[in-house]
Amino acid sequence: MARCFLALGSNLVDPLKQAIAARQTLAASQQLTLVKSSSLYQSRPMGPQDQPDYLNAVFELDTELTPLELLNLTQKIELEQGRQRKDERWGPRTLDLDILLYGNQIIDTPRLTVPHYGMKQREFVLLPLAEIAADLHLPDQSLVQQLAASIDSNGLQIFKRPADWA
Ligand code: ATP
Ligand code: MG
Ligand code: MG
Repeated sequence: MARCFLALGSNLVDPLKQAIAARQTLAASQQLTLVKSSSLYQSRPMGPQDQPDYLNAVFELDTELTPLELLNLTQKIELEQGRQRKDERWGPRTLDLDILLYGNQIIDTPRLTVPHYGMKQREFVLLPLAEIAADLHLPDQSLVQQLAASIDSNGLQIFKRPADWA
């Protein structure tokens, strides 16, 4: 059994609906146990600025799936929710589900890098993660609450508390 963390992002086709649907799919999955959901946060886009604001959240889950099986599942959910892969990096999307952490494992393969390469630089990942797992250590021993305390919040705002969406 591995304790894992996923990051959700959405900025197209009713992001609130996308986030709720993705969370419900995870919660209903036989292959994992959803343990916690963060608040939903509203963030400015990273990269191209000519796109709507994002909603972001982080989930904690337990699973017996291997890392690649978990990636297959998250990519299947992205596709089911209409994710279209375009050439533009960081362009708008209905749903992005990234694997932040898989237990304490370090994974570096063509399809999967864990911990997620950008997580320590992204306020829209660190602040929701700190909300549900402040005492967590990354494989490099850094502490989530310290990472979150030292990053610029960049205008990140709470959009809905867990009780209001999860
Ligand atoms: P970013 O990775 O910077 O957040 P993105 O999430 O928009 O950008 P995607 O288009 O969702 O990028 O994914 C591109 C590829 O990243 C995927 O096909 C997947 O194989 C690979 N990938 C590598 N590591 C991870 C990870 N930890 N979680 C999800 N995808 C990953
Ligand atoms: Mg991403
Ligand atoms: Mg992604």
